[in-house]
Amino acid sequence: MEIIHISAECYPVAKAGGLGDVVGALPKYQNKLGHVAKVVMPMYRTKFLYNNAWELVHEGSQYIGTKWFHYSVIKEKTNKLGFDLYLVDINGLLDREKIYGYDDDSERFTAFQIAVCDWLSKWQHLPDIIHVHDHHAGLIPFMIKFCYAFRHLSQIPTVLTIHNGQYQGWMDWNKAHYIPAYDSWKWGMLDWKKNINPLASAVRCAWKVNTVSQSYMDELRYAANGLEDLFEYEKGKCSGILNGIDNEVWDPETDEYLAKHFSVETLEKGKRKNKKEICKQFDLDVEKPLFTFIGRLVGEKAADILPEAISSSVYQHQGNCNFLILGSGDPVVEGQLESVKQQLNGYVSTYIGYSESLSHLMYAGADFLLMPSRVEPCGLNQMYALRYGTAPIVRSTGGLKDTVIDIGDPQGFGIRFNEASVWDVTYSVGRAIDLYYNRKEQFQQIREFMMKIDHSWESSAEEYIKLYQSLK
Ligand code: ADP
Repeated sequence: MEIIHISAECYPVAKAGGLGDVVGALPKYQNKLGHVAKVVMPMYRTKFLYNNAWELVHEGSQYIGTKWFHYSVIKEKTNKLGFDLYLVDINGLLDREKIYGYDDDSERFTAFQIAVCDWLSKWQHLPDIIHVHDHHAGLIPFMIKFCYAFRHLSQIPTVLTIHNGQYQGWMDWNKAHYIPAYDSWKWGMLDWKKNINPLASAVRCAWKVNTVSQSYMDELRYAANGLEDLFEYEKGKCSGILNGIDNEVWDPETDEYLAKHFSVETLEKGKRKNKKEICKQFDLDVEKPLFTFIGRLVGEKAADILPEAISSSVYQHQGNCNFLILGSGDPVVEGQLESVKQQLNGYVSTYIGYSESLSHLMYAGADFLLMPSRVEPCGLNQMYALRYGTAPIVRSTGGLKDTVIDIGDPQGFGIRFNEASVWDVTYSVGRAIDLYYNRKEQFQQIREFMMKIDHSWESSAEEYIKLYQSLK
């Protein structure tokens, strides 16, 4: 089968979160299963672009509204990611350093999608599946169904994967002219509550829709940032497929960012060495349990409760714990974390920013990983933590619920709680501290058990293939 993935992110080319990880891994594993999966994404000006060799495969031009634009498509020459990677360039729109966060994002991603459809419509053959990811590619199922210029693509089955339903790409109807001429009777397929809503449009127009865990799919029918009724109505074509992790990138035996490699057999020594390295860098005490948080400092991740939850934990548990936070986002939370760090120097440290290398070292050296998320479609962090023998402490939501079992259960290996509240986090940290100091043997067994859990992409990649096959 030939599958075209269309996405705004793909690791290691450009990544802001889990979407990048998934699009960087899933196609590779689909290819390993004997299919031909390709990735198409915008050509941002990232390091990966400058450090690799490219060939030009197509040039074309199109209109966005009344504005004419020229686009080109380049392909990475060596297949180094394990799949064909195509970048679409549009000067003035996509040639930026960052992925998102510009005032003209609607125009940028609409133009990207128009260019992709235009390019695909010039192919001599039709691919078997068009697989779009999140709202940045969400207008494509509509475009190929109803835009006159792309109509002959309309027989190609489309699949939408929702990595995060909070962000929907809303556009005012005064931007409707961005979308190439379409059957105007179908305007309702773009609309949700008087806005153009690319995610809602994709849910309606794609042949199949999935989220990245079953629990998140169920939750969307009750909490979907305004799209609850739509998910209820479309539930027949919706399903959940849990993400995998790329075991080749995330391997404590080979990970280039670690101070010491380790396996299940050498986990105690290996983790200790990595923890020492972190504690040295951040002035923390290696003898105390190390709690970490890695992620965007936003409400979805409940980052706003972290400053108080951390100080409450340090006070309530008599300083028998250390915290290290890696992330960036809400400036208020960033500031609060910095002041907690000042107040509780020696117990709390932070790295405000993005650091791929530090994140790997933290998964390896930490004892516990905190994820109090209010919303977590799948969550990759807890799966990386498991692979590196770090116990996740998670709120029971979305993919966290599907991947972590509480230590109260005989099969359990993590800690779960119900509310994104200071009290629940503080209490859970207490349970973890008890495990660390008073039940050392059990903790060691849990770590070994976690490292053996298989969350690799092989089985998820196969589930996607089954989903595609159901459309043939
Ligand atoms: P989301 O996509 O909602 O941000 P996921 O759990 O699906 O959350 O994926 C988060 C990914 O981003 C993980 O690979 C995590 O390690 C990485 N990440 C998030 N913030 C940072 C950061 N500040 N520095 C390094 N890696 C980060």
